[in-house]
Amino acid sequence: MYSLEDTHRVPDLIHVFNTLSRSKEEFMPLDGKNVRVYVCGPTVYDYPHIGNARSFVVFDTIRRYLEYSGYRVHFITNFTDVDDKMIARAHDEGIAVAELAAKFIAEYQRIAKELNLKPANANPRATEHIDDMVDMIKRIVDNGTGYVVDGNVYFDVSAFAAYGSLSKMPVDQMTAEARIEPDENKQDPRDFALWKAEKPGEPSWDSPWGKGRPGWHAECSAMSRHYLGVPFDIHGGGQDLIFPHHENEIAQTASAYSIKTPVKYWLHNGFLTINKEKMSKSLGNFFTAREVLDHYNHQAVRLFLISAQYRQPLDYSPEVLNQATQSLERLRNALDVLEGRLSLIEKGGTKPAQADSKLAEAVKKIRDGFEREMNDDFNTPGALAEVFALVKSVNTYASKVGKASAIREARSALLELMSVLGIDLETKTTREASASDELLGQVVDLLLQIREEARKSKNYALSDRIRNGLAEVGITVSDTKDGPTWKAE
Ligand code: AMP
Ligand code: ZN
Repeated sequence: MYSLEDTHRVPDLIHVFNTLSRSKEEFMPLDGKNVRVYVCGPTVYDYPHIGNARSFVVFDTIRRYLEYSGYRVHFITNFTDVDDKMIARAHDEGIAVAELAAKFIAEYQRIAKELNLKPANANPRATEHIDDMVDMIKRIVDNGTGYVVDGNVYFDVSAFAAYGSLSKMPVDQMTAEARIEPDENKQDPRDFALWKAEKPGEPSWDSPWGKGRPGWHAECSAMSRHYLGVPFDIHGGGQDLIFPHHENEIAQTASAYSIKTPVKYWLHNGFLTINKEKMSKSLGNFFTAREVLDHYNHQAVRLFLISAQYRQPLDYSPEVLNQATQSLERLRNALDVLEGRLSLIEKGGTKPAQADSKLAEAVKKIRDGFEREMNDDFNTPGALAEVFALVKSVNTYASKVGKASAIREARSALLELMSVLGIDLETKTTREASASDELLGQVVDLLLQIREEARKSKNYALSDRIRNGLAEVGITVSDTKDGPTWKAE
């Protein structure tokens, strides 16, 4: 990890694909080394599917790489805890919207942990920021870009010349998309609701226009401004959010705060597909993140989710998940090879050999290659190919290396680069750890039974050998009146 003061190694400039310009641009944050990021989080009305999880992992990986490159990242991702979908689902289940939200926020947090997402600097909930939304909408009404009809407030798209600059959709296409949800109060079908008047049985808050609730787009504009100010550096989400969600966010924020470009870089992840079709709740072609994580190793799932560049589609199948599981094994084996070799060298059991410089050179080349790939719009498959080149070098050279330093460098490169991708090769998942604890328990119990048998037959040399051997690997045996017990360090 490079610290901010570490000037001897400034990686080349990062280039990011900006949806706003449809091109790769040099990444130059607005405020030096500080980067402010807002990513649209889940609508907490149901179990997220593994496609939603792709979006979470993509932006976590981008954040990790920015931090590795020396930036201080302020990362905000929200929970949409009130909107049409939330209200409909809570109604179907006969529970309060807040209860539904609490259940699925807890589920998100569990998934976030299993996928090794770094905690955000804040996870605001829309319902905690109604005041910010009302304040923003008031500004829009006051400056004439919004209008009120029967307690509803709409954004007047015709008053915002740049409308369409993100999605680049022709007006008739935007109109056709907007007509999917008709509303006779609107002056233009493209206008959208900033505030929705209260309907019976729905959660509502006070506002200058009467009781009601915010429109979905208003939520993200107000929360991003609250935590990051405007303008900020990166706004992320899936490609399905470009229109209308992000188009509308730009219109609202620009208009409320008199700012031309509220966000410098718009980044959108491609879809996780199944049989090449977008995975989605409405099509019913989805697997929940929960079922996938319960079935496969958590780190293998993450490895799969970063196996395509983030803007490209990624197709889900059991075969690719099995491949990811094998790839993870190869990475862990390389780590075992390095650790085995290191302990042999440290015990003085090997003679210096000729491959030290070869391994050191490979490590340097691979680090450079990894950074080159990640600097190119976070090309994770390219970066992973570099790490697998390291695995190959380890398997070729490690047994011929004599210097501990060469092994240590390879080991720290392997661990560090994978951890930039969010995969900690040293950490076992909870399930693996409990399985190996169980196995350890069985083996120690077996050894203690053999020791008892040895003692009974007065073979003290063997019983002492078992006890001392266990002590050497950190397992202390105590003899009690109920028989032997043991404790691992
Ligand atoms: P939602 O909870 O529906 O608002 O979605 C949370 C995030 O997942 C958003 O950024 C969506 O754009 C993203 N998303 C939804 N479906 C997919 C998919 N099939 N592949 C990748 N990202 C998706
Ligand atoms: Zn959003």
